[in-house]
Amino acid sequence: MSFTLQAQEGGARKGVLRTAHGEVQTPAFMPVGTQGSVKALSPDELRDLGVGILLGNTYHLALRPGAERIARLGGLHRFMGWGSSILTDSGGFQVFSLDHLVTVADEGATFRSHLDGSPQRFTPESVMAVQRALGSDVAMAFDQPAPWPGDLRGARAAMERTHHWAERCLAQEAAPGQLRFGIAQGGFDPELREESARALSAMAFDGFAVGGLSLGEPRATTYRLLQLQTAILPADRPRYLMGVGTPIDLIEAVSRGVDLCDCVLPTRIARNGSVLVRGGRINLRNARFVEDGGPLDAGCDCYACRGFSRAYVRHLFMAGEILAHRLASIHNLAVLLRLTRTLRDAIGGGRFLEVAAALRAEWESAPLP
Ligand SMILES: [Zn+2]
Repeated sequence: MSFTLQAQEGGARKGVLRTAHGEVQTPAFMPVGTQGSVKALSPDELRDLGVGILLGNTYHLALRPGAERIARLGGLHRFMGWGSSILTDSGGFQVFSLDHLVTVADEGATFRSHLDGSPQRFTPESVMAVQRALGSDVAMAFDQPAPWPGDLRGARAAMERTHHWAERCLAQEAAPGQLRFGIAQGGFDPELREESARALSAMAFDGFAVGGLSLGEPRATTYRLLQLQTAILPADRPRYLMGVGTPIDLIEAVSRGVDLCDCVLPTRIARNGSVLVRGGRINLRNARFVEDGGPLDAGCDCYACRGFSRAYVRHLFMAGEILAHRLASIHNLAVLLRLTRTLRDAIGGGRFLEVAAALRAEWESAPLP
């Protein structure tokens, strides 16, 4: 059994996911390493932050440098120098985000590479072959998310195709020790969401993801649809909410039984000078920090906060120094990883609801985009 549930409280779950590269304490936040790198950070820095699992991107790696090339170089772990767990997404989200460049049929999706315009084709079989070659610890099934707001007919067609593709993905061979997760879809219709969760639950996946949310819909809708699906998905297997990870999202997701989250937010906003601080975020490019000798966040003990002032990191941003991106990324990841740890530690101790409510109050005052 790759997943062990250790405690539950108020809908939240604490557990351990065992992969071929170690144990992941859940709930876990996964930093995103789109191109085989969490932007600006080294594997050592990720380890120091306590990262146990990160996300790699099938779409990007398949196009450049190519999965077969990575396989010849020893697989993705060796290629990027990361010895802990890696989950690879299936590329579905990226392919269908290309919008007018993509044509979808039951066989698969045809699109043009964003790099050089060359014609490309992803099928359930090819996407699983790519992830097999990469040697990730968790491979995601190929799926078709429905756009927001979309329409019911389109959402149903995408959902049914996702279910057929999931079966075809399961029929493929996995890499040794590789786990496979299916993705529940259903657009923004509650009944379709329930139908998709039931259909996926009947398949022999090692875990399940909730996909196609956080595409522009109101947050209340996101959480309601998530709740409908986690209530149906098998309790003995891990649940992964894809691409959703502001501090509030994390609190709400964990409260609804989510075990894994990923989001580019902490590293993406860091490169623009935005850092997460107690109750919101600040932009260090703002002139008010020009002589601020305090740390990025007084409540944080990360490398950036221990050694450097807001004024210094602001100076680095204004001067275009690469270290600015690195320090802000380290700090933002530290905030989300600590938030996840705080939630995890509270589960099963009888204090989860209290802890989650306090964190919610802290972060709700200044919502993030
Ligand atoms: Zn910090």
